Amino acid sequence: MSEAFKDVTVLRQGDPQGNRMIVRITTHSGLVIHTIAVPQDWPSGTGPTWAYLFENEGLTLIDAGAVGSYSMLAEGIREVGFQPRDIDRVIVTHGHQDHDGAAGDLAKDTGAEIWAHDIYEHLLPHNPWDVQRKAASAIQEEMERVVKNDKEANAPDSSKMSSYRARHEDYVEKRRHYHVGHGVGEGETFGGLTFMHAPGHSPDEICVMMDGIVFTGDHVLPEITPHPTTRTLYGDDIKSSMPAHFHDERDFYGLATYLKSLQKVVDLGEEVAVLPAHRLFNRNKFNFQTVSRATEVIDHHAERLGRILRRIGTKPTTLESITRGVFSKRKLVGGNLYMALSEIVAHIELLDEIGDLEVADDQSLRWTGAENHKQFISDLTG
Ligand SMILES: [Zn+2]
Ligand SMILES: [Zn+2]
Repeated sequence: MSEAFKDVTVLRQGDPQGNRMIVRITTHSGLVIHTIAVPQDWPSGTGPTWAYLFENEGLTLIDAGAVGSYSMLAEGIREVGFQPRDIDRVIVTHGHQDHDGAAGDLAKDTGAEIWAHDIYEHLLPHNPWDVQRKAASAIQEEMERVVKNDKEANAPDSSKMSSYRARHEDYVEKRRHYHVGHGVGEGETFGGLTFMHAPGHSPDEICVMMDGIVFTGDHVLPEITPHPTTRTLYGDDIKSSMPAHFHDERDFYGLATYLKSLQKVVDLGEEVAVLPAHRLFNRNKFNFQTVSRATEVIDHHAERLGRILRRIGTKPTTLESITRGVFSKRKLVGGNLYMALSEIVAHIELLDEIGDLEVADDQSLRWTGAENHKQFISDLTG
């Protein structure tokens, strides 16, 4: 099934996306990892969150799953022979609701400590949507304008959209009361684990290495390319609540930051196995991969940078027309439009930074004729 492991046994079957599946993975050195596919209870293209449970110094869980899913997590923990109260710590790979949404319930119910990257705790008091949706570049203002003008994205339809919003508010409010037991730093080790900061998809993303494995959270996923953040500028309220070494937003956000973090995973060495937070199993098959998946994700973005420039060609082009050219119609309906636009914005910000394009005063995009992105990628991966 996978050469990276001595044994992989399905203890409980799930649906074709893997929801509610439980799998026991045994490493070559005999370490046993149980993974529980915790469903998200609203429609999500990413599928369940794969929570990983193992004994090192006590019992460690990596990721807790989404808001509202704690009872399913707890039931899975019992199913593999532990009690939720046996858990000593839950390592949150990053502060997105499908990873830390149930961590508070777990901590409250069991006394387990929440572990996360050092910066996580400082972001908890803030609504992640507010942190990210501040116009930090000219092209982000254009993105807001396109979303505002899109009839479908603003369709009053949408009991679905309003329940999504309500749920997000609920999550943000809940998180304000989390107590972080331990903030981890780059390179820190504990009980056979080594932590790596891997910002870009999320400012607080961490990967956890153990026994020839890297738990990648959403940093590296099979089948799908994780969404990069766009450039961010913290407001004074956020900065004043953070130590100075977190103040440079470029260290934590944007496509360049994400690509650097991907290369850090590649540098772990090609034989290292990836255990991701989504899509470990999907469409009735397992996706066991190595860190070479991170190379594929870098290649995907490198290709997209070139593709955006080719779409601009010799005449000024708008963000919207590039986005509609790159993504299929299906990927541009409703709330997806914002995700698609911001994906392109992340690429445009990088191309702008390295001098391949210019954002004009009317926010149209012009190719400068340079192709510095090629050098940028080869310096990165060199
Ligand atoms: Zn995420
Ligand atoms: Zn996720």
